Amino acid sequence: MVLPLRRTHPQGSLDAKPDRLGDNVAMNSIYALLGTTVFEAMSRLAAERGAVNLGQGFPEEDGPRDILEAAARATLDGPNQYPPMRGLPDLRAAVAAHYNAHHGFDLDWQREVTITSGATEAIAAALLAFIEPGDEVVLFEPLYDAYLPMVRRAGGVPRIVRLHPPHWRFERETIAAAFNAKTRVVVINTPLNPSASMMNRDELTMLAELCRAHDAICVSDEVWEHLTFDGARHVSMLEALRDRTLKIGSAGKMFSLTGWKVGFACGAPVLMDQFAKAHQFLTFTTPPNLQRAVTYALSKPAAYYNEMCAAFQRSRDRLVAALEGEGFITLPARGAYFVSVDLAASGIAMSDEEFARHAIEHGVATIPYSAFYAGPGAPALLRLCFAKKDATLDRGAEALIKAKRALA
Ligand code: GLN
Repeated sequence: MVLPLRRTHPQGSLDAKPDRLGDNVAMNSIYALLGTTVFEAMSRLAAERGAVNLGQGFPEEDGPRDILEAAARATLDGPNQYPPMRGLPDLRAAVAAHYNAHHGFDLDWQREVTITSGATEAIAAALLAFIEPGDEVVLFEPLYDAYLPMVRRAGGVPRIVRLHPPHWRFERETIAAAFNAKTRVVVINTPLNPSASMMNRDELTMLAELCRAHDAICVSDEVWEHLTFDGARHVSMLEALRDRTLKIGSAGKMFSLTGWKVGFACGAPVLMDQFAKAHQFLTFTTPPNLQRAVTYALSKPAAYYNEMCAAFQRSRDRLVAALEGEGFITLPARGAYFVSVDLAASGIAMSDEEFARHAIEHGVATIPYSAFYAGPGAPALLRLCFAKKDATLDRGAEALIKAKRALA
């Protein structure tokens, strides 16, 4: 017997092909029709072809040595047994203290902070905890590839609002039209991956009003909060919607240790209690050695973040200068470590996926924007990760330039 499959767009992969279901095997149709995530697919292609990897978003160099040493010590000294389900008290207190100092919040670490195995787990737990099957979830396109399958798997019905380049502004009229009596959750990401834009206070306030008016909860993915450039400052949704926001942060992004998968979920006790019930049966907890090392990392002064941003900003400027010198047009990149190339404006008459494939052949992996869209109609943009050494950025730019010249 072959399962009748609901058709879903195979978002998330460059070459997404539905897996074949064997006879007599009934499995969940959302995953059966989903490809492998584009980030994994691109990193694998880059490795196979020996291409420069400006695709998947991770820093080429690990974060500070003293944090790595703290993890090594914590591993050797132990204990390495299950920490409390909501996270080590010291880390939860450090997370609350960090945000209270940075944003002037009043987070109560005992009731309003949970440590998760990365931000992706936090997003999954939040959606599972807050959505009842049939509830509507407002999302914004471009959207990070994990959101849509997770919303659907939680039983949510996505209502997608499209943002537009080059400024990706949140406009009240179109957004208000996506809300109705069934709206339960709104998912935002600021700074926004892939567009590197940031929501401003007016936009957050407008969205907060809509959430209040429709009795909705905001799941706010703020993992890029500490990666902002040109003096831009991150504003958290918690500032606009304190009682209805679940804010998600990431130690991996803050300390350039993306593989550690240590995430922070913060929000009002009523949200956190429900959230923790989902978390307890997803991962239950997060490695205690890494939690202790992140506790240590959070003692870093503001200068640490300023220096990190200054270094990434230099990398962004180096890559952009190399590309623009050869006729590529890029969009403004204010947050996260990504910059977008506008293919049409750069004189390239190819779709984003076509050019991404072509660029791989010329030695550089990138991420086509289609991966961040639920259906057709993605703008012809490529996302490049600039959190790389100078030599890597130079080689990546050279390969992209070669790919462009090959079309002339
Ligand atoms: N967040 C990373 C990116 O945007 C990818 C993380 C992953 O591959 N799961 O590239």
